[in-house]
Amino acid sequence: MNSDFQCTVRPTPEPNAELERLGEQIAELSAHLDAASARLLDLIREFDARGGWGNGFSSCAAWLTWRVGLDRGAARERVRVARALGTLPLLAQALARGELSYSKVRALTRVATPEAEERLLAVGRAGTAEHVERIVRGWRRVDRIAEARESTRRHRCRALHVYQDEDGMVVIRGRLAPEVGAVLVQALAAAREMLYQRAQATHGDDVPAETPTVAGQQADALALVAETALHHGIDPGTPGERYQVVVHVDAPVLADPDAPGQSVLEDGTHVPAETSRRLACDATRVVMQHDAGGHVTEVGARTRTVPPALRRALQHRDRGCRFPGCALPFGQGHHIRHWAHGGPTTLSNLALLCRRHHRAVHEEGYQVERQADGELRFRRPDGRPLPHLPPPAAVPSDPVNALLAAHDAQGLQVHARTAMPGWLGERLE
Ligand SMILES: [Zn+2]
Ligand SMILES: [Zn+2]
Repeated sequence: MNSDFQCTVRPTPEPNAELERLGEQIAELSAHLDAASARLLDLIREFDARGGWGNGFSSCAAWLTWRVGLDRGAARERVRVARALGTLPLLAQALARGELSYSKVRALTRVATPEAEERLLAVGRAGTAEHVERIVRGWRRVDRIAEARESTRRHRCRALHVYQDEDGMVVIRGRLAPEVGAVLVQALAAAREMLYQRAQATHGDDVPAETPTVAGQQADALALVAETALHHGIDPGTPGERYQVVVHVDAPVLADPDAPGQSVLEDGTHVPAETSRRLACDATRVVMQHDAGGHVTEVGARTRTVPPALRRALQHRDRGCRFPGCALPFGQGHHIRHWAHGGPTTLSNLALLCRRHHRAVHEEGYQVERQADGELRFRRPDGRPLPHLPPPAAVPSDPVNALLAAHDAQGLQVHARTAMPGWLGERLE
């Protein structure tokens, strides 16, 4: 037998009081950091729930990425854990006392429900982070089977009943799968918005004699959704054109949102001038000329506002949305100075913005300009700058002691054994 092997011998550390102290310090500070994480998650949960990130960001995680420099995955995970802990007080308190590490809590919140919380807390206390991870994976598998069963059950019991009441009113009652319900809710919201804009266009700012209740508005919205569906032959269209919007807009309105003139959708619905400017910013357009009587006298060729070669160059230069903190990898070509206003369709006058932020810049009052050095500068609606990199938060000169002192002041008892697993090496079931 060929027994050629190598052996690496690691020096067995001498029992060394100094090293032991070092280890204890690591454990103690880690427990402090976990306790501080609990406080951080509380703040994130409140900020998230109160929509503090809604000033130009698509989500709380996107805001965290921008404001505190977390990577996207970590930011999403913080928000997820923060939300989960809102209904899991036992796990939240264990983290706040530094008894469970953030890693364990993160794993446990993937499966924890208020009913299972106490059992999972015991798992978290007894096991190492690795045990917890393994138990959670097993828990999830069971969970996924239950989930699949639940989804089948939901699908089977979907129903919509439409019947006529004694007084002739039509009553609708139903149960829709969540994703189907979401589409319906979205369609109703879009229809309500449309009806609201129609009402604005008709009545201006004076309140019409009778403002319908929310339930009444929903009923009107459903009627509009149904009409629209029939009008379009119940054809969802190919994905590319499914949400395509056709806007008829007078040239002066495009150049100046305050100019009189029409800005209407295909069916005659008025849309705000800024919306038509956004839609026209990067679109396929057909220029038609009308005579004074409204008759079309000339129809130009269908052209893209941003030609394909320029779009490729734009994509290559900007790589994604340029709005601070966004960086979605695709977007629309925004004319910094609108083409209808004489802005050229050139690389230096274009900036890539995602759909969400294109709206922010047109309809929500955010401003963007290109500075002499070629960099973009964004401003909030109130004119304050929106930097790409926010200034760092003030940190005490000795953050570790400041943290320990703050925990002391709260009366929090954290020491090196606070987060010790109860596991003594016995076999794990
Ligand atoms: Zn634009
Ligand atoms: Zn964006």
